[in-house]
Amino acid sequence: MADRYQQLINTPLGKLVAGQVGLPAPVKLERYVPGMPVISGPVLLGAAAQTRLEGAIELALAEMGAEVVSGPAAGEQTFKALVFDASGIVSSEQLRELWAFFHPVIRRVRDSGRVVVLGTPPEACRDPRTATAQRALEGFIRSVGKELRRGATAQLVYVASGAEEAIASTLRFLLSPKSAYVSGQAVRVHKAVASFEGIDWSRPLVGKVALVTGAARGIGASIAEVLARDGAHVVGLDVPALSSELSGVTGRLGGSSLTLDITDPAAPERIASYLLGEHEGVDVFVHNAGVTRDKTLGRMTEDMWSTVLGINLTAEERINEALFERDVLRDNGRICCVSSISGVAGNVGQANYATSKAGVIGMVESLARVVAKRKATINAVAPGFIETKMTQAMPAARREVSRRMNSLSQGGLPVDVAETIAWYASPGSAGVNGNVVRVCGQSMIGA
Ligand code: NAD
Repeated sequence: MADRYQQLINTPLGKLVAGQVGLPAPVKLERYVPGMPVISGPVLLGAAAQTRLEGAIELALAEMGAEVVSGPAAGEQTFKALVFDASGIVSSEQLRELWAFFHPVIRRVRDSGRVVVLGTPPEACRDPRTATAQRALEGFIRSVGKELRRGATAQLVYVASGAEEAIASTLRFLLSPKSAYVSGQAVRVHKAVASFEGIDWSRPLVGKVALVTGAARGIGASIAEVLARDGAHVVGLDVPALSSELSGVTGRLGGSSLTLDITDPAAPERIASYLLGEHEGVDVFVHNAGVTRDKTLGRMTEDMWSTVLGINLTAEERINEALFERDVLRDNGRICCVSSISGVAGNVGQANYATSKAGVIGMVESLARVVAKRKATINAVAPGFIETKMTQAMPAARREVSRRMNSLSQGGLPVDVAETIAWYASPGSAGVNGNVVRVCGQSMIGA
């Protein structure tokens, strides 16, 4: 899936031309390779007055081995990350503290650098002026994400009261190259649904079982690979027609395969029985299988509608019901879903697909409390333009426009979606529940 424009623009002549005519200049994003530190380079840490997260942030940064700089930034020093605790901001006047911290240093963020602001969820603030100021942080972070250059990203983490100890996995993800294609997002961390002490952060899924639907190829195969890298035993699931591709993937990873069509009425029961029989349950269930059948609504057949809704949404609901009814999901379990920015913004020719993917968001939002009671979490990723066979098949002009219409001016890779799922899947993400995080390079669509 070569991005020829990106290759060309990074030659000396390409850089010159791009600079002169103002063309987008996508850089090669830093991506995670096993053995890398979480973050390499100094992290400038700041806080507004009366914050409540500083201790938790300092602890998380120390545990990840970050080189932390606090106090006024020296001279022309550059930073790999700027982290600001805004949880103490209680009024619009006090938002000036954002400007005061970032203004002198924002142009000193290194390539593939990170800006992370932490705050309090506005819905949890009792005083309207505090809630207003905290909500304002979203506009700040989204603008910073659009202004940063050279692969740098900006995020906001809303940390609920009582969730202070649960922020480490999220800070690790957002500060590391694993979040290469995630920008302009507001993540919510709640009180942990289960305890999670003693994590080996380099292989957090050792001893865990993860099932990935649609694992024979594309994004699903990448999710299977990353979860196996993190130590999980992966059960790959796909349709019988792709059985040899599926066993190619799971064989390489030392996992196992389950071939069935998830829309088969017997599928939920078969999946539940398989997981209970072979593994006494499951820790991570990834609903990745999905299809498109694009046509504008007036030309769309009923079959195109029901195929897409059936695979992308109804099958997932029915499988969840079976997992709950038969108690298949273990404590600190995870349900991870794959939505799409089409589900956020809608798209011409995708009324069926966008309905199904918006439904996935609804499913995550409505089940978050239900699964929390079962000591589990449910979250979704909403990928934007990802370099896969699906997007390779788009008409060339549309493909090129879709690729560039984001703050990073390039498409994402399947591994970017997979790393985001792996963050949700980590036992340390016990407070990350009910989120829909876009993996879209901060796409202009649905912004
Ligand atoms: P893909 O077509 O390469 O892979 C999808 C997999 O799901 C296939 O292996 C397929 O056989 C399997 N599958 C389909 N129907 C199934 C069924 N009834 N039962 C079992 N398995 C079934 O697609 P992809 O690009 O890797 O997409 C993966 C997910 O990501 C999908 O949910 C898709 O909607 C979503 N997504 C993709 C993009 C992108 O840019 N590629 C963007 C947004 C969202």
